Amino acid sequence: MSSREQKTFFIETFGCQMNFHDSEKVAGSLVSQGYRQVDSVEDADLIFYNTCSIRDKAEQKVFHRLAEFKRLQKLGKKFAVIGCVAQQEGERIFERAPHVSLVAGSASYRNLPEMLVQIERGERATGLDDRNTEETFETEFTARTNPHRGYITIIEGCDKFCAYCVVPYTRGRERSRTSESVLEEARRILDGGLTEIQLLGQNVNSYRDPLGKRSFAELLAEVGQLPGIRRVRFTTSHPRHFTREIVDAIDSVPTLCDHVHLPVQSGSSRVLSAMAREYTREQYLERIAWVRAAKHKSISLTTDIIVGFPGETCEEFEETMSLLEEVQYDGVFSFKYSPRPNTPALAMENAIPEEEKIRRLAILNDRQREIQRVNYTRHIGQLLEVMVEGFQPARDQVTGRTSQNKTLNFTVPEGMTAPKIAEYRQVRVVRAHPNSLVGEMAAAPEAQPAYSVV
Ligand code: SAM
Ligand code: SF4
Repeated sequence: MSSREQKTFFIETFGCQMNFHDSEKVAGSLVSQGYRQVDSVEDADLIFYNTCSIRDKAEQKVFHRLAEFKRLQKLGKKFAVIGCVAQQEGERIFERAPHVSLVAGSASYRNLPEMLVQIERGERATGLDDRNTEETFETEFTARTNPHRGYITIIEGCDKFCAYCVVPYTRGRERSRTSESVLEEARRILDGGLTEIQLLGQNVNSYRDPLGKRSFAELLAEVGQLPGIRRVRFTTSHPRHFTREIVDAIDSVPTLCDHVHLPVQSGSSRVLSAMAREYTREQYLERIAWVRAAKHKSISLTTDIIVGFPGETCEEFEETMSLLEEVQYDGVFSFKYSPRPNTPALAMENAIPEEEKIRRLAILNDRQREIQRVNYTRHIGQLLEVMVEGFQPARDQVTGRTSQNKTLNFTVPEGMTAPKIAEYRQVRVVRAHPNSLVGEMAAAPEAQPAYSVV
């Protein structure tokens, strides 16, 4: 097929890392079916919209955008809505946006080739009935767009049904890939020249090898020992399945990054129970103590917090604030509780007024900013290994990331060659902000461990 005849597609993605990686796999599947990826809606025959419905009025935003796309239909373009809003709204999307040809949730992506044939025939295609599948979306054709990190989804879906969350309804049941296929994909990524791998899952540590060969911690350790690997990350961990074995793996395998993202959601055991998180504040803090007790590495901790869950009293919010003091996180993703369709929390009494949610969020963010200011300042003077992720010409800075997942922007002293993306350099930290560090590249690459030693 000549490139003029070749069908083109554009894909726009919203949401979490899993969604972005899904888009890489969807793009790979399309390329393997003879399509060519383009950078603009204008150049595309087929426009994919990969949606997220975790918070806010995501559905409305999607319909608004689809209405904007309508004018492009006259140009012969076709539209596909995939991801969580697609699964949630289903065929309603066709009713409200008749110009859409394909609606599919993430559990159906492995059927994309057949769906493409259908829409090319001028039919409509849906992929909405696969949420109970045991199968995962494995493809050799992943269009890796990240120039420094290879993502691998090791577990799809979620069975936890937290009272506020749509994910179990949109992504289907939990299903893990075999550890062999994960290792195989990791080897392919490393053979392709990348040196950092991130294992992904809504609850990555709920991973269960279908063949029973490796636990999550064993898989993590094994990925960390593959030839060519420099850094291994994983996200997101659920406290319920977070084990000492995971901490031991991080502590003993040098390439496993010294960072754990462990969403707590609330510091109040009463609220945690209402959220159906199935752990108490004390159990969560016990896991934090395991992380803090690592012998060889200082492991950075980050979390997710929801304020204003229905019925959250001022005292219970204070418990979240006291948890912040106790753990001293290096980063917090904080959210106002957002009512979501189909979830049990919708029917709960004592909704917190919007202004009160805003007030609590501001208090939390202000305090956390101060905690981070202090935490980040501790790095001043340290020599840290940084992986280069980009450049900021306006500031004459290179953007990099430490093993602890902190952004470290640095300058290159005169006479030294600027590093390339995905290269590692030693950088001396000279200044700290609450969300980033500033440094200067060290004279020569020094042999340093890939993690900061306690
Ligand atoms: N599976 C992970 C866990 O349970 O820790 C989290 C995955 S979820 C996609 C990312 C974050 O979104 C959650 O940790 C939670 O803080 C936030 N979130 C989910 N549903 C929410 C809602 N209805 N309102 C506000 N935040 C929400
Ligand atoms: Fe949502 Fe809870 Fe599943 Fe996380 S564990 S994705 S918050 S239902």
